[in-house]
Amino acid sequence: MLLSVEDAQTAILKALMPSGKVLHQPLTEAYGYLLAEDITARDDIPPFTNTSMDGFAVRAADVATASREHPVVLTIQGTIRAGHPVHDALKPGHCFKIMTGAPVPGTADAVVPIEWTDPVGGGTQVAVRQPASPGLYLRQRGEDMARGTRVLQKGTPLTAPVIGMLATLGVSRVPVVAPPKVAILSTGDELREPDEPLTPGTIRNSNAYALYAAVREAGGEPVLFPKAADDPEAIRQRFVDAATSCDLLVSSGGVSVGDFDYVKSVIESLGQLTLWRVNVKPGKPLTFGHVLNTPVMGLPGNPVSALVTFELFVRPAIRTILGDLNWPRPVVRLPLARDFTLVEDRRHYVRSRLLVSDGTLYLWPHDNQGSAVQTSWQDVDALMIVPEHTGPYHVGDRLDALLLSLQHVRPDASHIS
Ligand code: AMP
Ligand code: MG
Repeated sequence: MLLSVEDAQTAILKALMPSGKVLHQPLTEAYGYLLAEDITARDDIPPFTNTSMDGFAVRAADVATASREHPVVLTIQGTIRAGHPVHDALKPGHCFKIMTGAPVPGTADAVVPIEWTDPVGGGTQVAVRQPASPGLYLRQRGEDMARGTRVLQKGTPLTAPVIGMLATLGVSRVPVVAPPKVAILSTGDELREPDEPLTPGTIRNSNAYALYAAVREAGGEPVLFPKAADDPEAIRQRFVDAATSCDLLVSSGGVSVGDFDYVKSVIESLGQLTLWRVNVKPGKPLTFGHVLNTPVMGLPGNPVSALVTFELFVRPAIRTILGDLNWPRPVVRLPLARDFTLVEDRRHYVRSRLLVSDGTLYLWPHDNQGSAVQTSWQDVDALMIVPEHTGPYHVGDRLDALLLSLQHVRPDASHIS
């Protein structure tokens, strides 16, 4: 019996702990990290009541009867610019000309936008054509964030709007969760680096670089180790080096049942092997264990298998070490845009595009699902989940899909003429 994807995820995540390590990053370097602490507003935001329009700060009662036929004429007492509070009290029958963002004096209780007014008396007065209710166009002190309240929760991803909030609150160095150091290890006699010439029988080490990027995307700090040949001693040496300097080891290749697949035996000799083989296609030989107390994920060598198992097991592991409880991606049930006829004996994660047609999202599984076929990752936003021994499926049938992104979805062409 192979372990289910869910049981394997549970077993792996159970063996991991949030690292709890904190870094303090300047705001310009905080993007992409997770907040390491709750953030409480130290001030009211906005810090003073101000106007959201260019116009005239008034007493609402003074303009209560204003209409197009009978405008109320007010005398302009002065002009208030953003950044320049005035301290004079607003006199009855008067108004202040005021610019967006400028502090509204406490004696005014509404702003009439400039578009509702006409100049009178050569600009010394203004005729107001509409009444303003109290509070109109005022941004009240503390209405966005009230001093003393928790406005951001620990674990929040630092996106552009969140970084803007922190700047607003005067947090210039952000407590962020330190990304775990993730060792990238490649095994295989046949591997050459992208800048090395290929000799007969060799291929390029693509996994190291794909996994490096995937680790980054997942919020980890990738650390590239030199590839190891299919030799137990070479692999052992790399694993020891990595385990003593990193928080998580991710290797690719050498975990299957070939004569020269040594990764499992090396893990066993240096620590313990917790699981091997999962009911998943591609990626069955996935391996998890510990080397010198450092967790190790042994991914299969085929480039697609390595990335699918990364998505299903390594990304959740990295997010868990980061303390992100919201690591699961949404699974959405979507109709097929084309037939899918492959029937497999394991749960199949099928690289699929997402299409919009007539306002509905569709799954478009790629043709060639071979686990060494890298071109069918192109444009992929979802992994369609086909249960074992099911199918074939037809256009319009609905299947669950793990939503990876929406970055390749194009607008619905049928609506554009
Ligand atoms: P293995 O898991 O070692 O049996 O490898 C399975 C397949 O993946 C073989 O065709 C390997 O040549 C290929 N492979 C292994 N490691 C890599 C790698 N780092 N980059 C690209 N292909 C790889
Ligand atoms: Mg190999």
